[in-house]
Amino acid sequence: MITPSHLEQLSEKLCESARKGTLNQSVLFVGKEGIGKFSLVFNLVQALLCERDMSACGECSSCREVSHLIHPDFLLIFPFPNLRPESKKLTVFPFSDPVSSSARFSEETREAVETQRQNLISDPFAISDYEKKDIIPAEVVRDLIQALAKRPLRGGRRVVAVLDIDKMAFGAADLFLKTVEEPPQNTHLILTTAHPNLLYPTLLSRTERIKVPPVPEELIAQLLAEKLQIENGVAHYLARLSGGSPGIASRLYESEIIDRRQRILELFEKLLGGAGLAAVIHDVNMHYSGGKYRFDDLKIDFDIIESIIHDLYITGENDLDKHLINADIKSEFQAIKSPAREVLDIWNSALAETRKACTVNNVAADAGMIFYFISCVEAMKNLTRPKYTLP
Ligand SMILES: [Zn+2]
Repeated sequence: MITPSHLEQLSEKLCESARKGTLNQSVLFVGKEGIGKFSLVFNLVQALLCERDMSACGECSSCREVSHLIHPDFLLIFPFPNLRPESKKLTVFPFSDPVSSSARFSEETREAVETQRQNLISDPFAISDYEKKDIIPAEVVRDLIQALAKRPLRGGRRVVAVLDIDKMAFGAADLFLKTVEEPPQNTHLILTTAHPNLLYPTLLSRTERIKVPPVPEELIAQLLAEKLQIENGVAHYLARLSGGSPGIASRLYESEIIDRRQRILELFEKLLGGAGLAAVIHDVNMHYSGGKYRFDDLKIDFDIIESIIHDLYITGENDLDKHLINADIKSEFQAIKSPAREVLDIWNSALAETRKACTVNNVAADAGMIFYFISCVEAMKNLTRPKYTLP
């Protein structure tokens, strides 16, 4: 696995403290999803288990086993969806003892876990995208604890890595807490999360928190251009919108964000061209009605609108290329007559309210978006918000 260049220094520092013996027995990597946390986990595990002076040489048999995720003293768990739960037969992680384990999953679940393992090896930024909710079930954690009660198989160090620990099932997190409070001898715990606010305070206080920095825009653009064969301008747009996460940037691309942006931009062009509320509502209805809009998709649309408003604020400024989020379609923004700042302020606050209504209070996509665009028109007419509000 190749370490992304901006993480090399941090990774080296961590491996160095592992060699010196100053590394905390439990560490927690914190950073947005798709930001490359696993590449740090991976390097650290290699250093901890390497047979050549903990150099993470990449060549000794230990390092090679780690790189294929088959080292018997590297216990890796991550969330997965429970597919076809009615056909239970198998355990899914190698540390589970098939005889004593109460974990029983279907063939499909085992395949999903195996696919995820391969994805981790091939792309440290990959984000898993399951139709069904993924969790770390209690049975798996029980198996892990049982495995930890035995000595390390090779007699040396042992490493447990739990990815996205915030997705541990309720009872499972309680069980695991005891391991965090008193990790077995010679056992290192490496945890990752994108949502530290969801973790038990005890867990946070017992681990050393390491913040994983966002990936620089230029590097994301490079990665995307290679992976997706897209032009540079589009790659930079995706990078800017992703907030420093190549994984999120790829997912945005797969969600057809470029088409979405075009549709939304056309709505704003109509609005600003004086097309009137009825025409705008007609188009909003066409895009968002019928309940076919996925929750995740709607979040993307809100981000697109936010980026459009951001860019409308600054269309009059110099040096647009540097500041526009939508720099790849600069000419379209230059052709739009931007509304007054007061109007944009209202567009922004109405967006925050709509976002909250649709994501927290489950307001349907079409109702939310209609409310939003009515707010936009009202703001242009009277610099006020409509009198009614969303729940
Ligand atoms: Zn090695």
